[in-house]
Amino acid sequence: MHVGVLKETAPRERRVALGPDAVARLIKAGDTVTVQRGAGAAAWFSDEAYAAAGATLGDARDAAAADVVCKVQRPADNELDGFRNGAVVVALAGRDASASPETLASRGIMLLALERVPRSTRAQAMDVLSSQATVAGYKAVLIGASSLARFLPMLTTAAGSLTPAKALILGAGVAGLQAIATARRLGAVVTGFDVRAAAAEAVLSLGAKFLAPGAIAQDAATTGGYARELEDEQQQRVLAAISGAIAQSDLVISTAAIPGKPAPRLITSTMVAQMKPGSVIVDVAAETGGNCELTQPGETVEHHGVTIIGPLNLPSTMPMHASQMFSRNVQTLVDLLRKDGKLTLDMSDDIIAAMCLGGPAR
Ligand code: NAD
Repeated sequence: MHVGVLKETAPRERRVALGPDAVARLIKAGDTVTVQRGAGAAAWFSDEAYAAAGATLGDARDAAAADVVCKVQRPADNELDGFRNGAVVVALAGRDASASPETLASRGIMLLALERVPRSTRAQAMDVLSSQATVAGYKAVLIGASSLARFLPMLTTAAGSLTPAKALILGAGVAGLQAIATARRLGAVVTGFDVRAAAAEAVLSLGAKFLAPGAIAQDAATTGGYARELEDEQQQRVLAAISGAIAQSDLVISTAAIPGKPAPRLITSTMVAQMKPGSVIVDVAAETGGNCELTQPGETVEHHGVTIIGPLNLPSTMPMHASQMFSRNVQTLVDLLRKDGKLTLDMSDDIIAAMCLGGPAR
């Protein structure tokens, strides 16, 4: 099977879909791999490292001519020249329609959309949403810590004693739990919150407090393990619970999300006005509109002395490890596409069937 690795073209995208280690594993499994020159440069993977792993270096057309073309963000319409009819593209489909399923289909290209990997135990090793959320949760805390005017840990020094910062983490999925663990390691007193009852146990197991268990709906989790949108009355109870805690917090990391929907609004401007001046909110949900109503995606704004940061594409800001994790996910998926050394799209496989967008099934 011929695997291609393309360089990312989207602004701010520094990751690469397959790093040299993953390429070496594919070559060991019998694949040939062509990597576009410079594909890994922004993640600090050199062309030499790919060559040492056994890849052939080429231009974009060489890499695009593969059976399976791997990319972080799916190629735009004007990047599809050189793809062969019947090619499989493994990438995030994303929300913008730069290459629509129709365009892909008309060119005979099948997109395996990485965000559609089922949340099953078998698919866990292919789940880029989880691996990249881990990076986002960690980095959000670091951004928050470096934007605060105070320490996170308690300090007892000759110059006096300093109390630890209070951190509130909203949404205790993959990103939120990583944020809780990171904020705890840095010495903050951490409280977590989620509407899924199952999240409480995970929050407590990390040594954090769990906010207002009474505000949780027993049925706020769908069968897929995600949260659903709340009824009005329940949303009001959630806001009331958060409101009191937010006023006491120095650092808020908000990660609440509902798949396919805008981010739930959890932090109103009134709540922000009740926070202490110098506090910081890092809104990891900025990409889908933000959990805070004052968040400007991609910007940092100040309201009543509170800094509100709306970072975009956090995983890309730690491109080396984000790519390493992404690569492992993609490589595991590519392994699933190889049968007797040949590309085989097995539509009876629930993982592949769930991910297919566009092109002709074979
Ligand atoms: P996500 O990114 O969709 O959402 C982040 C968190 O926001 C979730 O925990 C969600 O419950 C929470 N949330 C939604 N609305 C909220 C609100 N109004 N207030 C507070 N919190 C709210 O979720 P995710 O991080 O991708 O993971 C969701 C679940 O799936 C978790 O239980 C996770 O452990 C599980 N999971 C399973 C697998 C697997 O089995 N392969 C892989 C990844 C995640």
